[in-house]
Amino acid sequence: MKITFLSLFPNLLRGYFQDSILGRAKEKGLFEVEFVDFREFSHDRHKKVDRPKVGGGAGMLLEPQPLADAIEAVKGPRSWVIFLTPAAKRFNQNDAKRLSQKEHIIFVCGRYEGFDERLIELYADEVLSLGDFVLTGGEVAALAMSDAILRNVEGVLGNPESLREESFEGNLLEAPSFTKPDSFKGKKIVSEFLKGNHAKISALKYDMAVMRTRYYRPDKRIADEK
Ligand code: SAM
Repeated sequence: MKITFLSLFPNLLRGYFQDSILGRAKEKGLFEVEFVDFREFSHDRHKKVDRPKVGGGAGMLLEPQPLADAIEAVKGPRSWVIFLTPAAKRFNQNDAKRLSQKEHIIFVCGRYEGFDERLIELYADEVLSLGDFVLTGGEVAALAMSDAILRNVEGVLGNPESLREESFEGNLLEAPSFTKPDSFKGKKIVSEFLKGNHAKISALKYDMAVMRTRYYRPDKRIADEK
């Protein structure tokens, strides 16, 4: 798996892949990252990449030429081009799993007031939003999505079991978890968790996951509920 980031600020992105789980997985060659500053593709003598909107409206837009040339330069026959914008479908865990099967993902990070729409029409295989809020640029969205995608790439997580018990598996949020000590500032671990009956613990965890999902995410349909 390779991820290419098209961004005006590649330095915002690089550091994320240098440490921790993703840093180690990259060292092992489990994925590759590439950072491309599309300002380098501008034909303007001052390397400008933005222009006022046609037809009025506040702010500047990314003009077509530099990004189009950058995409054409990095794109191969198996690339999957994702434009990042709040005006799109929200990214979720199913997208993370699905996209972890791609060979090459290109994230196009916007800035200013976003893209000339024709770039999306011409080049996007998919258009994704990180959530219902507006960021100053697509870099944080690209990093969040890359992280969620890469932890589903085989070998990236030391223990693949961790993926099975996480939030959003079976549409449920993860149940509360505890570690030592058994009592902390007067708060005790749920007593059943200490007794070692794994069937009981997992039934209890399921009930807690259902309750938590109902409380925080009433919008989610729970699999075996009518
Ligand atoms: N004018 C745009 C709108 O209202 O839809 C917002 C532009 S935003 C200030 C600049 C860039 O940040 C966008 O082009 C996009 O790449 C990125 N961005 C902002 N919010 C985002 C979100 N929720 N998800 C993904 N990308 C986002």
